[in-house]
Amino acid sequence: MADSPAAALPVPIETDALIVGAGPVALFAVFELGLLEVGAQVVDSLPFVGGQCIELYADKPIYDIPALPFATGAELIERLQRQIAPFAAGFHLGQQVNEVALREDGRFDVATDAGQRFVAKAVVIAAGVGSFQPRRLKIEGLDAWRERQLFHRDPGPEATAGRRVVIVGNGEAAVTAALDAVEAGAASVTVVHRRDDFDAPTPLLLRFQSARTNGRIEIVTAQPSGLQSEGEVLKGLVVDGSDDRTRTLALDLLLVLLGWSPKLGPIAQWGLALARKQLIVDTERFETSTRGIHAIGDAVTYPGKQKLIVSGFHEATLAAYAVAERVHPDRAQPLLYTTTSPKLHKLLGVDPANPSPPALP
Ligand code: FAD
Repeated sequence: MADSPAAALPVPIETDALIVGAGPVALFAVFELGLLEVGAQVVDSLPFVGGQCIELYADKPIYDIPALPFATGAELIERLQRQIAPFAAGFHLGQQVNEVALREDGRFDVATDAGQRFVAKAVVIAAGVGSFQPRRLKIEGLDAWRERQLFHRDPGPEATAGRRVVIVGNGEAAVTAALDAVEAGAASVTVVHRRDDFDAPTPLLLRFQSARTNGRIEIVTAQPSGLQSEGEVLKGLVVDGSDDRTRTLALDLLLVLLGWSPKLGPIAQWGLALARKQLIVDTERFETSTRGIHAIGDAVTYPGKQKLIVSGFHEATLAAYAVAERVHPDRAQPLLYTTTSPKLHKLLGVDPANPSPPALP
């Protein structure tokens, strides 16, 4: 771990537990921590919660969640969000946790690449197969325009209105961004992909097709290969067409929306014991080689570990008891049942006489 360089950044959020990752296992950890009166802040590099369930298989069915014979990835995440709603955890999306450093008072300084700081009594790493990062175009020098003229997300109507927008990608994000840019009044919208083949829900594809027919969206089947710039300004994207023609697409904004892929990222730098890029934990407290830093889900290894959601839920439960011991050292943590405990009913905001599922936040 670094010697707390995070301390130089602005106003930190104080919290009981800081959770790295917002995948299914992190979400269930929020629930188990909440039952033990441990508050949580959650950070994920993706701009949405759900980890692999949303990024890799939102519409595909899962059959091995206990008592849930069938749910898509998206449905499972929606149910988890509903379940954790009573605990009002703070979510900080679209930012990667870069630094975790032990403080003299036994708490942890945590900092993200967006400059957000936290001071946490415990850290729970639920980082899965790594921090999801946008897939980039392999064009030298392109990153210099990031967040100025190059975006890996839809920058919104104020940014696209009146501008020449070039979008690279063929998935739902690219199709949605193209339609949004048309609606915002972009001067032109060009979508580049190596094939004229788009993958998005049918209603979106129908609108996309209609905008193409009306000449509001142009499709260029080509591979990006270079840039054209003048001084500090990115002027165009050079593309090699499927017709062997090289041309330059003039632009004001370049949106590269090619999906996300996981990278182990900064976790390897936090001085925690690893085996084959996974965090070594014990199976009683799911604690790493540093006391107060716990780890659960696909990010961990121990004898018999299976990378399954149900295993992560168990790990989250035991880690929560260990974190609660650290956060409330003077308090016993007796086993309470959600069925019968008035204390848990109060925390959950439920009335067993009139049972109803909590609403989504
Ligand atoms: P993840 O879901 O990987 O979430 C981790 C999150 O942490 C990510 O969103 C990542 O961006 C974030 N993160 C990582 N590092 C950082 C950082 N430094 N800062 C900020 N954020 C960070 N399991 C089953 O049990 N049943 C199934 O049927 C099943 N089907 C699957 C199908 C497919 C196609 C795949 C790919 C997996 C499947 N799995 C299934 C496995 C299951 O999805 C994983 O076990 C589960 O997602 C692990 O959850 P997690 O919360 O540990 O990690």
